[in-house]
Amino acid sequence: MAGIAIKIAPLGVERGDVDWLADSLKSIFNSTVVVEPKLLSMSVLLDFYDEERDQIDAEGLLEKLQSTVGVVPQQRLLVLVNGDGFVEGLNFVFGVSKPGWGGVVFTERLRPEYYGQQPSIALYRMRLLKESLHELGHSFGLPHCQRRCVMRFSNSIYDVDAKPAAFCSSCAAALNRMTPGLLRIP
Ligand SMILES: [Zn+2]
Ligand SMILES: [Zn+2]
Repeated sequence: MAGIAIKIAPLGVERGDVDWLADSLKSIFNSTVVVEPKLLSMSVLLDFYDEERDQIDAEGLLEKLQSTVGVVPQQRLLVLVNGDGFVEGLNFVFGVSKPGWGGVVFTERLRPEYYGQQPSIALYRMRLLKESLHELGHSFGLPHCQRRCVMRFSNSIYDVDAKPAAFCSSCAAALNRMTPGLLRIP
């Protein structure tokens, strides 16, 4: 174990999907992964909901969460929000993160139904895993990456689908330099 704990706090995301994600993260990270369904309540979102945009202010929420939960050095928090997030200057974001703290992933645009396609739990979960790995990667100190890598920036759902649910060899090496033993397969 790398001595790191990943905590997952779902807000409106289905437990079956959250448990699947937790198991997937456990197979990638050599850390404890725990689901904390009661850590946060939906009401935390209220102050950051922009009625006109029908979206959540991702940066505002991130700051609020950081001040509420605090920074625990050996812990990364992954907040899963069943909603749509934005940051100033972008139409939407799949997620946001803070190095050393954790990240937030917004799930609304990860569903095939959002694009008028047939529902697919498998596809939805794979996208959830990719964006969770991406934000966790940032939280462990990784920047964006141009390779075939989960740290590639995603501008659209096509970008999400095109990238693998894995760190490239150079990001994996960087992760293991910053947090030795973090990845199960270095
Ligand atoms: Zn990113
Ligand atoms: Zn990479």
